[in-house]
Order: sequence, then structure tokens, then C-alpha cells
Amino acid sequence: MGGELPTLGAWQAALKCEQRLGLPDADRSATSGSLPLSGFALAVHGGAGTIRRSQLTPELNAAYRAGLRAALLAGQAILAGGGSSIDAVTEAVAALEDDPLFNAGRGAVFNAAGHIEMDAAVMDGRTRAAGAVAGVNGPRNPIHAARTVMDRSDAVLLVGDGALEFCRSAGLPFEPESYFWSERRWEALQRELERRRTGAPDDRDDADRHGTVGAVALDSDGNLAAATSTGGMTAKPAGRIGDTPVFGAGTWAENGACAVSATGDGEMFIRHGAAHEVAARIRLRGQSLAEAADSVIAEIGASGGDGGLIAIDASGHVALPFNSLGMYRGAVVGHEAPQTAIYAEEELSE
Ligand code: ASP
Repeated sequence: MGGELPTLGAWQAALKCEQRLGLPDADRSATSGSLPLSGFALAVHGGAGTIRRSQLTPELNAAYRAGLRAALLAGQAILAGGGSSIDAVTEAVAALEDDPLFNAGRGAVFNAAGHIEMDAAVMDGRTRAAGAVAGVNGPRNPIHAARTVMDRSDAVLLVGDGALEFCRSAGLPFEPESYFWSERRWEALQRELERRRTGAPDDRDDADRHGTVGAVALDSDGNLAAATSTGGMTAKPAGRIGDTPVFGAGTWAENGACAVSATGDGEMFIRHGAAHEVAARIRLRGQSLAEAADSVIAEIGASGGDGGLIAIDASGHVALPFNSLGMYRGAVVGHEAPQTAIYAEEELSE
């Protein structure tokens, strides 16, 4: 790597090179921007389960953006201090888990049985070290549980009671069920259970259906990392595990190719091997990050899957494509101010 750090103007210009994919629904678009850089960069998402525009009050808009910004600042502080991409993505995701607005950690959704079961994963592109937990409820930050699996276990993925036992013996902080409980998520579950009882069509707000948080980063040593955390889909069957902790589906990091964190209909991302597929298209087909990321999201859309992903490559290009109405998202380049956006038509802005 070499050259200069980009300016925000250059970043914005790159993001203006939006690619609209010819997807069936005109409202569903994919956006990607890319920018060569040296130094470090970080992107985050707060899920493709965005609330309808009509429901977004100025206060909520500010709160979502503040949550994304806090996560970007947490990761940026680590990267700016010479820290690693794996630490930056872990702490950016932990900040989003602590914010009840997002479907992960504190704001997680309920499964059909009225319980919260969370999935989280982290992967280091330098070593291919990876750690994940699935179906857990207890550790305050599932992403710290995933990181502890990566750092202190020979396993890559732990589930259920074994995962909780491991986290307890590692000394991770736990919270009671009440910490994760929220009225808004409970009501979304009741509405969905009622809808299923009556057989009414599923015209839910995306925000009632699903959500996830994630981060990808490139550090100044040239190392890539990805982290993802989720409560999954509202009213999912008990025991259902989504794409988040399935490496290669919702989370992937590979130096020399890219780091990816996905959000959306998890089953579809698993069936497409989405995150690994982006890396494979770069490595084997020589595609750019934007081409690889946009084409994978387009194929998922063509199969009927909603969602998006954030990705960063070894040269610091960033792609943020999605085929849903919006995706809470943001990025920061070097020491510049973080930028965020929610809906498809929006550009990143401070
Ligand atoms: N991908 C998540 C899951 O299926 C949900 C989401 O990102 O909205 O668990």
C-alpha cells in the first residue's frame, strides 16, 4: 500500500458512483462506493431492517445516526492508535450491541417462543482465526463471547449451554433476561404471532422483521477483519441459527481479498455462501470489490432474498450494497469525520 489518505470529498465522490441494479422492484436498489486509500478505514451497518420512512421522526433519525457514529468512533479510535482491525470491529460491534435501537445485544428481537437467542461472529483476515457463538442469551455482549471463542478456545463455533458455560468460565459479564427485553420487540413479536394465526399477508415494516449489526475494517498494517452480531429474525423458530455465525455466509475476512459482514434474510445468505462468495469473486475472477459485492447482492435479490452487506478490500475500497429499502450504514476513512446514511437514495453524510 502507498499513496495518500483520501479526503472526504473523494470518498463522497466515490459513493456517488452508485450502481442501480435492474432488480424487479424499483424501490430496491444496491449502492456501492469505493475508494483507494492508504492507512485505515472502517465501515459499519445496523442492519437492512430499516423502519419505514414515514415512521422516521427527526429524533429517531438523529438517534440511529448517533448510534452508527458512536460505533464508528469506537473503531476509529482503536485504528488511529495503531490498533488492529480485529479489535476495531469487535468494539464497533459491541457499541452497536449496547444501543437498544439495533437488533443485537440489548435490542435483540424475540423468537416464536418468546425468547431471545443471539448469534455473533468475528474473523481475523490475517490469520483466518475465527470465533462465533449461536443461540445464546446471557453474555452482555455476544460479540465479546465470539471474540473469546476465537482467542481462547480450539473451537470456532459454540452454541447453547456449552457456549454459556465457556463464557462464564472466561469471566465475561452476564445480564439477566430483563436487560435484553424491550416493549417494542415484544409488540413486534405479538403482531407477527397474531398475523400468523389469522393468515394475513406479511406486510410488516422491515424493522419488525429483522436486523443485525456488523463492522469491517482495514488497519494500517494492511490487515482485514469482520464482525457481525444479531438477534436474528423476529418470530424465528426456537433453535434457528442465521447466517451471522456461519463463516462464509454472514461473516468472512481474508487478507488479500476482503472482509464482509452481511444482513438480511439469513437463510438466503447461507444458501448463497454470500460473504465467502464476494471474496472468491475477487480472488478467482479478479473482480473489483464493488463488482463482487453488488453481483452477490443482486443474485440474492433475484432469489427473493432481502438484505445487504458491507465489505472492505485489501486496498481499502469499501462497498455497501443492499437490495432493501434501506440499510443503516456508515464509514470512516482515516482520521476524517464519520459519515452515515439510512435509505437507498441517501448519500453518506456527517
Ligand atoms: N441475517 C440475520 C439473520 O438471518 C437477520 C438480519 O440481518 O436482518 O439472523
